[in-house]
Amino acid sequence: MAAVRKPHAILVPVPFQGHINPIFKLAKLLHSRGFNITFVNTEFNHRRLLRSRGVSDLEGLPTFRFCSIPDGIPNSDENSSQDPVAVAIAISSNNFLAPFRDLVLRLNNLATSSSSNGVPPVTCIVSDAFMNFTLEVCEELSIPNVLFWTNSGCGVLIYAYLHKVIENGLLPLKDESCLTNGYMDTAINWIPGIEGIIRLKDFPTIIRTTDSNDVVMKIHMDAIQKTKRASAVILNTFDDLENRVLKEVSSLLPTVLTVGPFQLLENQVQNNKLDSIGTSLWKEDESCLNWLDSKPKNSVLLVSFGTIVHLTEDQLIEFAWGLAKSKHNFLWVIRSDLVLGSTSILPIEFQSEISEDERAILVNWCPQGKVLNHPSIGGFLTHCGWNSMLESITAGVPMLCWPAFAEQPTNAWFCCNYWGIGLEIDLEVKRGNVERLVREIMSGQKGKEIKDNAKKWKKEAEKACATNGSSFRNFECLVKLLLSDLP
Ligand code: UDP
Repeated sequence: MAAVRKPHAILVPVPFQGHINPIFKLAKLLHSRGFNITFVNTEFNHRRLLRSRGVSDLEGLPTFRFCSIPDGIPNSDENSSQDPVAVAIAISSNNFLAPFRDLVLRLNNLATSSSSNGVPPVTCIVSDAFMNFTLEVCEELSIPNVLFWTNSGCGVLIYAYLHKVIENGLLPLKDESCLTNGYMDTAINWIPGIEGIIRLKDFPTIIRTTDSNDVVMKIHMDAIQKTKRASAVILNTFDDLENRVLKEVSSLLPTVLTVGPFQLLENQVQNNKLDSIGTSLWKEDESCLNWLDSKPKNSVLLVSFGTIVHLTEDQLIEFAWGLAKSKHNFLWVIRSDLVLGSTSILPIEFQSEISEDERAILVNWCPQGKVLNHPSIGGFLTHCGWNSMLESITAGVPMLCWPAFAEQPTNAWFCCNYWGIGLEIDLEVKRGNVERLVREIMSGQKGKEIKDNAKKWKKEAEKACATNGSSFRNFECLVKLLLSDLP
């Protein structure tokens, strides 16, 4: 009788925190279903994880290992995210394919050697949609390759329609003046699945280029094309949230499986050994949780701009005074590289203003998921990264949106205009505007409506991930698909 093969999945994120987090959550879910896991970071991030989490985390478990491959990007600040353009160039230069192919070969050789320690041959690959060099390896080995778009469904839909926007002559921009002369207000009402008036300024920021060969735009359009070769597509969202958008995305790409929000699916998995392993590239400061314990329910605004966005000094100061003058409590994550080239920066008068009643706390990095679920949190001023938005939706927390980069403007548009769970801060930050909107979201009438909507969406997210909910069922389909070729 032939031996039953064990499943072994390799997972490959784009080397940014916002991509690593959801793919790691998926890896844990697959592990809980009996998959042997190899999680592949770049060498740069592997070193960062060693510093932030320690060696024991990266030792993993016999059935869950971390490996690394080089990215060929020149060294950058060890405590910052790499430059997105440098990463885009590494992707478009196909830097990753050869070391990845070697890694798979090594794992497969190990599996057949006497020292395999039970590591089975690689049976499937789940990679970030931008790390689609994996398709070639999967095609060589005849194993499934599922591609994971870690962005919102609405972001993916716009990427899938970019070629039409270009064919219609709307992009690339004719010249830089288009950014300021009202051109970005051009309304697009012909993308199926998007109801209402969406403007070029609500499109992902990759379109803000005059270069028809722009490398960042190119890797997005290329990723859409390559996704058509995938065995299936995973999205970290849920059907009710992006219903019409997802119908359209599903008509353009192979089997689309919405399996989010992962943090809710993940709650169903109890695995003590893996629970303690994390992938935070920055050292988490848990002390802010004690500070939150001392604050009344719904009284604190979390302020965080994610892991890639940088502010100018002026923007930082405008946010600081807007927050301080609102007189509300706030927890502000100020990464060491939040303002490039400046070692901070906040005026002494601001520090004394916020020390009154210990009204605010500034941290370098926080356990954001835990913070958002703390009962004292009543709002979230966010840059609208998709993970942050989903974490906020899952916690039922309304948002103040200040989208800066990638598909964040699209996420903000849906958040404020469609789901009714956010208010938008002008891109050109002014302290008065920030102060007014913080007051509104924390204690105003509109803020109350938005909070009620946020609670409603939290329930919908929970339903999607509960037994037999849409994301739960889709996760089961994913497991079946990844096991399908195993004897
Ligand atoms: N994050 C965190 N602590 C922080 C700031 C961010 O754990 O102090 C996490 C956050 O929970 C999210 C990720 O970093 O999972 C950021 O991803 P997102 O998609 O929101 O934004 P990006 O950084 O990719 O722009």
